[in-house]
This record gives sequence, structure tokens and C-alpha cells, in this order.
Amino acid sequence: MIEVKNVSHAFQVGRKGERQKIQVLNHVSFSVKKGEMVAIIGRSGSGKSTLLNIISGFLKPNRGEVKIGETVVTNLNETEFAEFRLHHIGFIFQHFQLIPSMTAFQNVELPLILKGMPELERKMKVDETLERVGLLTYKDHYPSELSGGQQQRVSIARALVVNPPLILADEPTGSLDSETEDDLLLFIKELNEEFGITFLIITHDEKVSRMGSRIIEMADGQIREGVFS
Ligand code: ADP
Ligand code: MG
Repeated sequence: MIEVKNVSHAFQVGRKGERQKIQVLNHVSFSVKKGEMVAIIGRSGSGKSTLLNIISGFLKPNRGEVKIGETVVTNLNETEFAEFRLHHIGFIFQHFQLIPSMTAFQNVELPLILKGMPELERKMKVDETLERVGLLTYKDHYPSELSGGQQQRVSIARALVVNPPLILADEPTGSLDSETEDDLLLFIKELNEEFGITFLIITHDEKVSRMGSRIIEMADGQIREGVFS
């Protein structure tokens, strides 16, 4: 499902004249199989988000290649990648990234509008997906009228609505209290087991990583694989 081959990336930081290069990823290679749930762990600053941004196409690596399914995504230009994401990848973020001026329904509907789905079909699909995350009765609420856990469920619905084979998540439980977190983790696990959706989840949370079928640890720009339980 995902193949990361020899990916290296450095950022230039600091003011002009005294620019410094920090090597964040150093020849990183790993793969994720269809239906797997893989947790990426590692200290803050170890390059987890950078790696996810490269896999998501928001950042071009200095070197290396990422393949998702049969597509070498690192070869796609911005427009092509945007189109690719719309059909193949769902995202869940720590801070939900819902649009505050849109209701739960409208937030979930947005990817389908971008895909060009007709209105009637769209409405059915959004309702069905909000039902699946247990929030149909909240569909006309704005994000500010929902709890953190509910907002994260809306963002999961937004990720799910296009039936993506792959969901990428960056600290999905990072803003939630521990009880809400447990609910959300169970729900993600269910999606993985019942619908075979592949998950790649960044976390520094032990609970999340224990749930994964596999753990990848990042340190010093490189990865270490294994079961750390
Ligand atoms: P993590 O998600 O594991 O906490 P990140 O991938 O966000 O780590 O960051 C890894 C390193 O790269 C950090 O030292 C961070 O400061 C640096 N970094 C991340 N993004 C940028 C950027 N856009 N410009 C410069 N440095 C960055
Ligand atoms: Mg991060």
C-alpha cells in the first residue's frame, strides 16, 4: 500500500547569511501492507510529521521515492497530487482542522463537492457517514458547538466519506482527554478490522502504538522497526 524508498530530507533554517541545514530524514525506507495498522513513534522533533507530510505530498523530499498503491506519488505535481489525495487518502489531524464556518454536514460534504458528486448522492453519502461515526443528530452543529471528541469524529467522517483505502493520522488523540481517546481508538480499530482500511498513525501515545499491528520508531533521522511491547 505504501512504499517509502530511501527518503532523505533536510530543512534550511536560520537567517540569511547564517543559514544552517538540519538533516531530518536520512535514507528512510519502509513499507506498509494493505490492511495494516502501523504506528510511528519517536520523540518530538524526530521527523515524524515531516515523513507524513512527504507521504501526503505536502512536502517534496530532497531524495527518494514514495509509492502509494501503484502510483509513484513523489513524481506527481501539486495538482495531480491533490487529485490523487481526494480519491486515495483520508487525513486525521491533532487539531481536527475543520472549517469553523461550516456545519458538521458541510465539513464532511466538502471532499465530495471537490470530487464532483451530484447533490442528491452527496447528501445520502454524508448522512450515511455521519451515522457511522454516531453524529447524524449533530449534523447541523458548527465545530464550536461540538466537544473535542465529537469534532474529531466529524474529521474522521470527512476522511471516510470518499472511501479511501488509506488513512494517515498525525497525533489523532493529541487534543483529547483519555476517556474520549479510548473511544476514538476503539473506533479506529473497528474501521481497520471491519473495512480493511490501512492506517498509518503518528503518535507519542503508548496506548495508540499498542493498538497497531506494527510499530516503527524514528530516531536520528532513521527508523527502527519492531514490536516494543
Ligand atoms: P515531529 O513530528 O517528530 O515532532 P517534525 O517532523 O515536525 O518532528 O520536525 C523535525 C525537525 O524538523 C524539527 O527539528 C523541526 O524543527 C524541523 N522542521 C520541521 N518543519 C520545518 C520547516 N518547515 N522548516 C524548518 N524546519 C522544520
Ligand atoms: Mg509532529
